[in-house]
Amino acid sequence: MDKNSEEEQSTGIIKFTPPLYKQRYEFVKDLVGKYKPKKVADLGCADCTLLWMLKFCSCVEVLAGLDICASVMKENMHRLSPLPGDYLQPSERSLTVTLHHGSVAHKDPCMLGFDLVTCIELIEHLEESELNKFPEVVFGFMSPSIVVISTPNSEFNTLLPGVTLFRHPDHKFEWNQSQFQSWALETARRYDYSVEFTGVGRPPTGMENVGFCTQIGVFARNYLETTESAQSEKPTEAVYKTVFKAVYPSLKDEKYLQNAVVSEVIFTAQIIKQSLLDCLMSEHEEYNDDPTERKSKFQPSMKRFSEDLGNRVVEKSMEPFVNGNVVYIPLTTIFSFPKVNRLCGTFEKLCKFIAGKVTLSSDGSAVVLNTEHKNEEI
Ligand code: SAM
Repeated sequence: MDKNSEEEQSTGIIKFTPPLYKQRYEFVKDLVGKYKPKKVADLGCADCTLLWMLKFCSCVEVLAGLDICASVMKENMHRLSPLPGDYLQPSERSLTVTLHHGSVAHKDPCMLGFDLVTCIELIEHLEESELNKFPEVVFGFMSPSIVVISTPNSEFNTLLPGVTLFRHPDHKFEWNQSQFQSWALETARRYDYSVEFTGVGRPPTGMENVGFCTQIGVFARNYLETTESAQSEKPTEAVYKTVFKAVYPSLKDEKYLQNAVVSEVIFTAQIIKQSLLDCLMSEHEEYNDDPTERKSKFQPSMKRFSEDLGNRVVEKSMEPFVNGNVVYIPLTTIFSFPKVNRLCGTFEKLCKFIAGKVTLSSDGSAVVLNTEHKNEEI
């Protein structure tokens, strides 16, 4: 027996583990892992579960859902909104999630430019007139590089208890393997795509000819689409209604990047200050004298800071020092730590981001912190 299905010995009932719908979503997730699309549209997205799973794929920057039923999308669409943690630690990638109310039988320019289009258990819900228009909308108009279409395999129905005609009352048809494959091959031929067939939900051993419970076609566009060809002769009139839009906080947005730089600079400076003061204290204990009087002799070991902040990316001669109750941490030192360096890119940007946000020495070359108030700048 396949690990994705179990046959209950006594009843002969097939139970899929994980459930079949999860196997379909995992299949799409694996496809996203393989092709790394930036823009993914899920047609017939229903309660947005697949979109919600895909928002965690780090390559995805644009997610769109489309469904003819607005209420089913609205029920759970809040799951697609950013969480407080997304604002506290904005991601390096940008992410926009949009939901549209409309039909796959109609063209709308908001559906242009996608790399991957998923149609999971959608086509069997389409009326004949909609199914006839569907290939032109998806393959002709949207023309993404990859399309994945899943649909029930009617040959498997005899193995499913209680299924008489169709698996769901809203299904307009259910195709056997040959019907699906000839429709898919003809669609691929007409729109210059290649198609490969697979599925999820294996049949029991000895019944392999029945095929997968869910049959899947993965279509790959055979031609390279240029910006000009993508836009030529494509209608511009919007027919879908946007019912949800979320723009996630991202470090690509200067506002969030500046916050992240300021936080990281203050954090780095605090770590350096603490290491410096710990060194001074241990020297004080060793010599039993006033540590601030030996400040000129003090050479902190930058190795200590590296343990907390990662290896420095640039070696700098100027080191932090203590003068009275003020700690001076050169910006060049802070810039040499990997996270600050990666966030800012250039020293000029570091200076620009922290200007007016972090207390600096009079010449602007160092962050200054007070030795007496552990967590406060002066
Ligand atoms: N893709 C989801 C999944 O795999 O869990 C939901 C599949 S559900 C069985 C089919 C969805 O297609 C429904 O939410 C239905 O409203 C939607 N649908 C039916 N006809 C449609 C059409 N013409 N255009 C867009 N969506 C449609």
